[in-house]
Amino acid sequence: MAALSESASPEAAASPEAVFHDEKHASYLVAVSKNTEAIEFVLTEYMRMSGVYWGLTAMALLGRDVHKEMDGDAVVAWVLRCQHPCGGFGGGEGHDPHLLYTLSALQILALLGALDKCDGAKAAAYVAALQQGDGSFHGDEWGEVDTRFSYCALSSLAILGELWRRSPPLIDVAKAVDFVDRCRNFDGGYGAVPGAESHAGQIFCCVGALAIAKRVDLVDATLLGWWLAERQCDSGGLNGRPEKQADVCYSWWILSSLTILGRSHWIDEAKLAAFILECQEPDGGGVADRPGNMADVFHTFFGIGGLSLLKWFDGTAYAGRPAIDPVFALPAPLVAELGLEASVCPRATASLLETWARARDEEKETPPPSP
Ligand SMILES: [Zn+2]
Repeated sequence: MAALSESASPEAAASPEAVFHDEKHASYLVAVSKNTEAIEFVLTEYMRMSGVYWGLTAMALLGRDVHKEMDGDAVVAWVLRCQHPCGGFGGGEGHDPHLLYTLSALQILALLGALDKCDGAKAAAYVAALQQGDGSFHGDEWGEVDTRFSYCALSSLAILGELWRRSPPLIDVAKAVDFVDRCRNFDGGYGAVPGAESHAGQIFCCVGALAIAKRVDLVDATLLGWWLAERQCDSGGLNGRPEKQADVCYSWWILSSLTILGRSHWIDEAKLAAFILECQEPDGGGVADRPGNMADVFHTFFGIGGLSLLKWFDGTAYAGRPAIDPVFALPAPLVAELGLEASVCPRATASLLETWARARDEEKETPPPSP
C-alpha cells in the first residue's frame, strides 16, 4: 500500500497503514472541472452533466464548499442552458434531452441550492411523458427501455417534489413498481428488462427505484443479499457479475444495494475499504477502477462514496464529513433538507446469514429461505 512510504505526511494521521489523499483528491476534482482541454472532457462531452454531478458530489462528500470551490454560479448557469423547452436536460449544451442527464442536472441544482432556478414543472412533465403503458420508462424520444430509466424517473420526480402528487398524478407509481418487479431474476437480482441477466448496476437502479417507491418489501433481500455479497473478490474489491474483475465503481452499486437491504455487513468491509484506498492515485489525486490504473472522476466519486457508505471516515482524521445517502446518491444532510423519503430494510441479524451459510454448506442445492 502507498501508505507506509508516506507515513510522515499529515494525511497519514488517520491510521498507520491507510492514507486517504484528501487534499489531492479535492485538487484533482477542481482541476478536472476547470480543464476543458483535458482528454477526459473531450471524451465525455456528451455526458458532461453526469461528470459534473460526480465531481460536485465527491467534493461535497469531502466536506468542501462546492459552491465556492467549483464555481457554483457558473455551473448553475450552464445547467440551465442545457434544459430544453420540453423540460428535459441534455448531457451538455446543444445535446438532446435524456432522462439520465435530467436526473444529473436536478442533482447538481439540488447540490448547489438552485432547484428553484429551473423550470421544475416542465422537467416533471418531461419525465412523466416518458412512462409507457407497462410502467417502464423510455430514456428519451428514441424509445429505449431500461430499468436505469425507472430509477432516474422516480428519483427525478422525488427531487422535484412531484412523485406523490395526487390530483392528477403525474405517473403511475404502482405500474412503475410492477415493471421493475418483473425484471427480477431467479437469483434475486435484476436486469435491464424482464428476462435480462442480473447485473450489479441494474440491481442498484431497481432496488433504489423500489426504495423510492417505498416497495423495497418486494426484494428478496436474503437471496439478493447473498448474490451481492458473493461479488467480493480475493482482493477485497467487488465485481459486477460472476467471473468478472473487481472494480471500484461496484463499491458503490453493490454496497449501496446491500445498505438499502440492511446487509452491508455481509461483506468484509475492512477489506473493501483497503481495496478502494489502494486504487487512489497517490501523486495527482483521484481514484482509479483498480490499483495502478489512471484515475477518473467517475471512479473518484464511487470510491469516495464507497468509503462513505463503509463509514470509513468515522474515527479517522477525516471524521465529520457528510455521509452519502444510499438511495439518492446525494449527501445525507441534503436528502434530509429536501425531505426525500425511501424505504430500506432493517439491518439483518448475523444469525440469519449464519443459518443460511450452514444450510448452503450442508446442501449446495438447498433453496434459500424467504426473508
Ligand atoms: Zn468501473
